[in-house]
Amino acid sequence: APPVVAVVGRPNVGKSTLVNRLIGRRAAVVQDTPGVTRDRVSYDALWNGRQFVVVDTGGWAPDAKGMAAQIAEQAELAISAADAVVFVVDTNVGILDHDEAVVRVLRRSKKPVLLVANKVDDQRAEAEAAAMWNLGLGEPHPVSALTGRGSGDLLDAILDIL
Ligand code: GDP
Ligand code: MG
Repeated sequence: APPVVAVVGRPNVGKSTLVNRLIGRRAAVVQDTPGVTRDRVSYDALWNGRQFVVVDTGGWAPDAKGMAAQIAEQAELAISAADAVVFVVDTNVGILDHDEAVVRVLRRSKKPVLLVANKVDDQRAEAEAAAMWNLGLGEPHPVSALTGRGSGDLLDAILDIL
């Protein structure tokens, strides 16, 4: 079976937009209202002749559990079923508590992780992306899921860790 890459991160960082970039079509649902992706959804991807599966995650139910706990739980489920993980942060907003909740899950897992600094729509945002080194998850990959900036390099990097 082809290897599986899970795309994780707190709501609204651009996971579904990035998934659409990675699979080269519009399939993952993107909305300005965070939390629209209710379950994990898998898509087939092909890059440089190599097949892999991309899993979009997100969403929460308004129940007793706190949002951070639900985000962490979602990430945990997706990571355990994946061969590699793409962790997405929003370069414009920076790191919030809900990002840290995912980072804690990532540290516990032994899976290879690629850090994506998303929403780097132009050259100016590159400096902010470099600040993501502070997460201790290795080199941040600056990407604009919206425009496609950096997505080819990211796909190359994903194939390198699979
Ligand atoms: P998710 O909740 O993490 O799946 O995030 P979505 O993919 O649904 O995107 C949330 C919002 O961020 C939407 O309004 C997207 O259009 C926007 N967005 C996603 N990627 C980018 C990007 O690279 N640049 C900018 N400026 N906006 C983005
Ligand atoms: Mg989504």
